[in-house]
Amino acid sequence: MHYFDHSIHFANGRSAQIPAGKVVCVGLNYRDHISEMNSQAASEPVLFLKPSTALVSLEQPVAIPVAYGACHHEAEMAVLIGEQLSECTEQQADEAIIGVGVALDLTLRELQSQLKQKGHPWEKAKGFDGACPASAFVERARVKDLQDLQVRLTLNGEVRQQSSTSMMITPVPKLLAYISRFFTLMPGDIVLTGTPAGVGPLTPGDQLTVALDDLISVSTTVVAR
Ligand code: ZN
Repeated sequence: MHYFDHSIHFANGRSAQIPAGKVVCVGLNYRDHISEMNSQAASEPVLFLKPSTALVSLEQPVAIPVAYGACHHEAEMAVLIGEQLSECTEQQADEAIIGVGVALDLTLRELQSQLKQKGHPWEKAKGFDGACPASAFVERARVKDLQDLQVRLTLNGEVRQQSSTSMMITPVPKLLAYISRFFTLMPGDIVLTGTPAGVGPLTPGDQLTVALDDLISVSTTVVAR
């Protein structure tokens, strides 16, 4: 297992000088994904957490569990937090973002469905070791508009997920301000901003390319844990 080793790096190789913290995720933040899941739009953001032990580098082979049914890819824009945020405004949230990256919210879809049906928490399906492969981060100053970036996942040469962050239901500053009402965000925390449509199962041997606009593109291989 290649853990994130608790250091966050920018794409230019510079260390962010902060340890990786928790990962806060939002469900159902793109309309096209809501319809493919046969879900209903939520009136407020659906939040869940992945522990820091879920973070691994996307540059390494993506190691998926094979004993619990299908493991789905969800490609998402990730933002790196550089300042403590608690009950913050949207402007404070926007100013606290120091990096932008791309990550996979790996999801054991069958296990998640079973847990949902029983009304149980779904952490086992989304928070397992290695459930959040993340790229290095591009410095925030290099990104003009967070809500105008293409998220793209290619599986074995076929584009499976491709959408613009302009399609988010809750845009990033509003999302961070909302999150900070419940969970204080700390320097080194990472927020995954939701997945567009096109999620699907991964199989050991798959070749993946995950990209954020022309800022980041990471190619990797899927292996069995
Ligand atoms: Zn997700």
